[in-house]
Amino acid sequence: MKFNKVNWNAAYKWLSGKQELLVRAYTKNDMEKVRHLQISILKDFRTTAIAVRRVTTSKGSRTPGVDGLLATTKEERNKLSLRVNKIVRSPSTYEPLAVRRVWIPKKDGTKRPLGIPSIVDRAIQAVYLEAIDPIVECNACKNSYGFRKFRSAQDAVLALRGKLIHPKASEWILNADIAKCFDKINHDFLLRSVPVYRKVDRNVLKKMLKAEVIDLRDVIYPEMGTPQGGVLSPILCNVALNGLEAAIKNKAIELRRPILKRGGNPKVHVVRYADDFIVIGPSKKMLVALRPYIEDFLTERGLEISKAKSSLFNVWEQDIEFLGFSFRKRRFNYKKRFEVSWKKPNYKSPSRIIIRPSIENTRKFKTKVHEMIRSHADLSTLVLKLNEYLCGWANYFALTGDSAKRVRDLRRFVLWACWHKVIKLYPKMPRKQIRKRFFPTHKFYQLGRYVNRAWVFSVPTKLERPSVKDAKLRLYNLDSIKAPGKAITPTGLNAYKKEDIIKLEESKARVALPSGTVEKICNRQNFICPACGQSLSNGEDIEIHHTLSLKIARLHPSPNKQVKLVALHKLCHSRVHSEET
Ligand SMILES: [Zn+2]
Repeated sequence: MKFNKVNWNAAYKWLSGKQELLVRAYTKNDMEKVRHLQISILKDFRTTAIAVRRVTTSKGSRTPGVDGLLATTKEERNKLSLRVNKIVRSPSTYEPLAVRRVWIPKKDGTKRPLGIPSIVDRAIQAVYLEAIDPIVECNACKNSYGFRKFRSAQDAVLALRGKLIHPKASEWILNADIAKCFDKINHDFLLRSVPVYRKVDRNVLKKMLKAEVIDLRDVIYPEMGTPQGGVLSPILCNVALNGLEAAIKNKAIELRRPILKRGGNPKVHVVRYADDFIVIGPSKKMLVALRPYIEDFLTERGLEISKAKSSLFNVWEQDIEFLGFSFRKRRFNYKKRFEVSWKKPNYKSPSRIIIRPSIENTRKFKTKVHEMIRSHADLSTLVLKLNEYLCGWANYFALTGDSAKRVRDLRRFVLWACWHKVIKLYPKMPRKQIRKRFFPTHKFYQLGRYVNRAWVFSVPTKLERPSVKDAKLRLYNLDSIKAPGKAITPTGLNAYKKEDIIKLEESKARVALPSGTVEKICNRQNFICPACGQSLSNGEDIEIHHTLSLKIARLHPSPNKQVKLVALHKLCHSRVHSEET
């Protein structure tokens, strides 16, 4: 078996079939079968290949571990997959390398530690991920949205809106932040509750958790926590925190008579994204009473709520800050289309939840843009870099129509910053000429008609782009993203069951790419790579494949150009070309 000979389509199909069987066996409590299925998933070369592909093509794949090794070429990946498969087949011989510690600056000035395992260890973690994640998914909280297939931070935001939007919805909020979740998780608890059923596998996980951490010259032997930067760590975070929602809700049902003095639904909700969660309750008293139970739940796992960052308040009095968005509940006059009063109204008045990027986040955006503009002297690379960042930002934050004004302001801000950059670069050029050369009016095709837009920052590019006539690189327009009006993801579904996957895919977010042409081609393919059958938005690089060679396409231009272009993963693209020759 060789990495570059794997039939990806068949491999992914085989793996998802096995994972579905695993989920079915687990729900029937047939533990013997679960054990066998897990072993067959772990030992198979196809899982190894998928794991190696995941760790060598993802965004984080370019950071090496302590050994400085990165598998970027075909031969290196072949070698890596053989090595990983050998270890997975006889796990008792496995000895992980040390974890490299990197410090990443945080927004409040402090630094966050990141632990980066070597590429071999990452690949082995990814193999275990495929065997563990289906079972973790079976036990997942209904409203947990972090690090789960088909669930994103935006789903968490929309779910939170769903809990707040009804006029009679609960109004008290406990915004809880777990202090240093990844660094503090209790090892014994994790090893007890991780769903693996062989002693060898448990030992492998134990060795991974206890692997020494190298911080410049210091060597640390961790007693708790999991390395942030490992493939398995997010899943382990979910393993530790699953059950939180059910525990809180059950306690609330117990407490409703003594506190709320009524029966029925206590109207307590929990929305969690990884280690960040929000509890919504009907009264302050209820949340104050629930808090010790939440703290008990967390202490068992070695965690605690950070006192400085958590708060208890009413929605009408304070904005909720969650995942970079700010939520506020306001009375709203739909006929006049503006906010009526910020005082607490009676229940009959229509209210609405306004979701915007938080002020802190827009500030972060501005400093980031300034920093990028300062650090790039060449305009065309600057525009490429900016496009990538702006597009990612807009994809995430243009979630609701409420963001529109803030996004418009930011667009103007970026343009203004670019204008000053160009003036500095060409101090002797008259302003009128700068305007004409770098900020011309451009015709866009939008919503079925052509629209003129003034002040489009565009620079001549040195890149070879044969499909574009004038070869100009334009700044991505932040305004161009429409709020998708995304449907709320249904809860209680399992991302490894076929019938549930169909339902989950319906509510998947639309992704915009910095290049309009690439986006159009991807959309035509429904964001599926035709070579491997996997989603194009899985974090790998996308490349455009010309089904005719470029030379022929140039010699015989035809009106229907797009049909000759196919979007593929970078890996699949190189495979297609190697098979041609
Ligand atoms: Zn592909």
